[in-house]
Amino acid sequence: MKRERGRRGKKRICSFCVDKMTTIDYKDVPRLKKYITERGKILPRRISGNCARHQRMLTTAIKRSRNIALLPFTAE
Ligand SMILES: [Zn+2]
Repeated sequence: MKRERGRRGKKRICSFCVDKMTTIDYKDVPRLKKYITERGKILPRRISGNCARHQRMLTTAIKRSRNIALLPFTAE
């Protein structure tokens, strides 16, 4: 498999890295909401610009948040 290297265009900076966040709080709904679409889907990394590490944390946080009904489940 070939991996794409050297991304062109705009620089994507992980906003969680910028804020030096080591954890993502699932109760931080305003923040999480920036990473879900109107339909409740989690934004893919290529759009959110998050690094793999934080994207994973984010996914976990969003799922946890959904479980306690802070965020809606995907409308699918
Ligand atoms: Zn990051």
